[in-house]
Amino acid sequence: MAAGMASESVEQGDKVTLRVIVDKGRNQVVYAEAGKDFVDVLFSFLTLPLGTIARLVAKESNIEAVRFGSISSIYESVSDLDQQHLWSHNCKEMLLNPRNSMEDHYKHLKLNIDDTPLQLFMCEDKSCRSCVSIFSNQKCHCGKLLKTDVHLIYQKGFVKESATFIIQDDLNVMPNDLGTSLCLLQKRGINNIADIEKKMILVGKKEVADLLKLSLLSKTPLSDFVLKRKPILCNLNQNFEPKIKIENGLPSSDSDEGKQMVVKVIRRTSNGKILFATAEEDFADILFSFLTFPLGAVLQMLEGFSSISCMDCLYRSIKELSPDRCLRSQELKDKLIKPDIFPNFELRRQILAIETFELTWNSQRLDFIDPKSPISGGYAKGPLTIMVTDDLIVTPMSSIDAISYLERMNVPLNDIEEIVLNIGKNEGLSILKASLTSTSVLTNSLNQYIG
Ligand SMILES: [Zn+2]
Repeated sequence: MAAGMASESVEQGDKVTLRVIVDKGRNQVVYAEAGKDFVDVLFSFLTLPLGTIARLVAKESNIEAVRFGSISSIYESVSDLDQQHLWSHNCKEMLLNPRNSMEDHYKHLKLNIDDTPLQLFMCEDKSCRSCVSIFSNQKCHCGKLLKTDVHLIYQKGFVKESATFIIQDDLNVMPNDLGTSLCLLQKRGINNIADIEKKMILVGKKEVADLLKLSLLSKTPLSDFVLKRKPILCNLNQNFEPKIKIENGLPSSDSDEGKQMVVKVIRRTSNGKILFATAEEDFADILFSFLTFPLGAVLQMLEGFSSISCMDCLYRSIKELSPDRCLRSQELKDKLIKPDIFPNFELRRQILAIETFELTWNSQRLDFIDPKSPISGGYAKGPLTIMVTDDLIVTPMSSIDAISYLERMNVPLNDIEEIVLNIGKNEGLSILKASLTSTSVLTNSLNQYIG
């Protein structure tokens, strides 16, 4: 034990301290107290594109690799997809290493765990400032090469330098206040200070990766993390609530026929389970584009009800924080609760309400050299028919593979029906919501639209 203590204090330079109050009787974290370094990294989770999260949680930390709903399946499908089905090699690179529109805010955080390369290239001709690319050696509009490295100006995270916070077990973050912490103890019926234990936890990058994993899977990530409990996994498929909360508030997607796409669903008649769907490259693009969406933007689309319960808590708590006393500015708060997609990553035919922004240089707009389709702005190259399983494994369609799949799943041919669905904004949002936590995404999201 003494040796352990010694090595911890040596490492303390790149670790931050988390002070925790534990309810001894229930073996639960009541709350943690932390400063800027820790809270900045928690908030940075909301800026991470879903594909980045899938990549980060697939690595080992102190806990083993985990899967991120069915987003991990989309990520692996892109990784396995033959190059010929994408517009360029760069398209694959963009989907597997999606850029974060707030990367300049967290890249230099002490506990940053995102290893996405952050490059941006301008024209080798210094007088030409019309184009940029995230890939080097692309051709500029003027014909020369884009190979001059652009240096980003790094910002200092999200929260005020000296602010401190109270973080509840479900990642609800509040300003540090004695009244609040007393209230949290009283609410649990803790009147005797002997019933609580104070702990000090050192948090490094490995621990942040642990926390990211736990926050996708557990309703009590801090207790699981601090007390090294086995996470109480929510049975995600069972708890899944397919209805999207804002469905009625959305304008009817039928009005915008240009943005609709057709998906043919193969469903078991006996139990309503959707086995797989077939569709064209436009639907592949929608699924692939999920990888590029910042988590916070997805939570914003779902109005803070994503079914990743503690990310919802984290998101909603930021909305309550004061931009004067806690966050660095109102503008930064607005960005955190509605992060944009990185410029050039957007689809021209996106059915979901996700926004991007323009990059400027001396107030002049910069054009991105787009490696995606010149027509649809998509990643997938048509004509392509895809097969999508219920857990969102996307592969080029083959009738023989589809029949083998039915055989493997032991489905008699007289128990299946094909249903043609138009996929608009509501259907797209339902699929996105289900993909965060479920591995029966098509069944959970599309059955409600089948009459
Ligand atoms: Zn140029």
